[in-house]
Amino acid sequence: MNSFSFKEYRKIFYYYKSNLKLLNFNEVNKNSNNFFILRHDVEFSIERAFDLALFEKRKLNAKSNFFFQLKNNSYNLLSYENIKMVNEIIKMGHGVGLHFNYKGPKNKKSIISELNKQKKIFFSNFKKAINFFSPHRPSKNRFLLNLNLPNFKNTYLNLYFTPYEKAINNANKTLYLVDSRHKWKFIHPFNVDLKKHRKIQLVFHPDAWTKKGYNLKKNYSNLKKEKNIIFKETLFNETDYIK
Ligand SMILES: [Zn+2]
Repeated sequence: MNSFSFKEYRKIFYYYKSNLKLLNFNEVNKNSNNFFILRHDVEFSIERAFDLALFEKRKLNAKSNFFFQLKNNSYNLLSYENIKMVNEIIKMGHGVGLHFNYKGPKNKKSIISELNKQKKIFFSNFKKAINFFSPHRPSKNRFLLNLNLPNFKNTYLNLYFTPYEKAINNANKTLYLVDSRHKWKFIHPFNVDLKKHRKIQLVFHPDAWTKKGYNLKKNYSNLKKEKNIIFKETLFNETDYIK
C-alpha cells in the first residue's frame, strides 16, 4: 500500500471511525469527549481537493472540511470554474471554510482588518460556507494561533487543538495530527492509541493525496503536469492556440 494513496487514507479513516465519532467543528463543544474532525487545507490544487471530496463522499460516506485560500499564488478561488467546483464540494455535504493566508504587518489591527475583509469576500461568493477559518502556516506566524472573531472561529481554538507535546501526554486535550510537506509532522495517525486519545483533529493536505499515492518528488512532478494541463486548456479556450 502506497503512502499518501486513497487506499491508505481509507485505512486511516476506518481506524479512527471504528474508535471515535466523526464530528464537524461546530458539533464539538466542551463536553465532547469522543470525536475526530477531518480538516483539509488546500495549498495548490482545487482539483485534488475535489477528487478527495468525491472519494470521501462516495467511498467513505464521510463529511469533512475543506479550507481554501483567497490570496493564493497557485489557484484562483474566484474563477468561474473553481467556484463551481467548490460549490460541488459543498453539495457533497462537506464544510467549506477560509484558509487564511496573511502576509501583512504583524499587528492585531491589521490582521483583524484583513481577516474581516477576506471573510466578507469569502461569504459573498460561498453563502453556505462554515463559520470557521484555518490560518495558513501558524507555526511560522504564532500570532495567527490566537486569532479569533466572535462569529468566525479559529480551528486552533483550545477545543480543537493543543500543541502536540502537551496533548500526547494529556488525553484530556485534543490531539492534533498533520501531514506537512509529504510526511507526518508529529506521528503517523496509525501510531496513536485511540483507547487513550479520544479527541483528535486530523489535518490532511489534499495536494499530497492521490489515488495511487506518490513519494514527494513524484507527487510534485505530477502536480505540475496537472496544472500544466489546466493552463493549456485555458490558453486554448482564450486564444485557440494549441501545440
Ligand atoms: Zn496552509
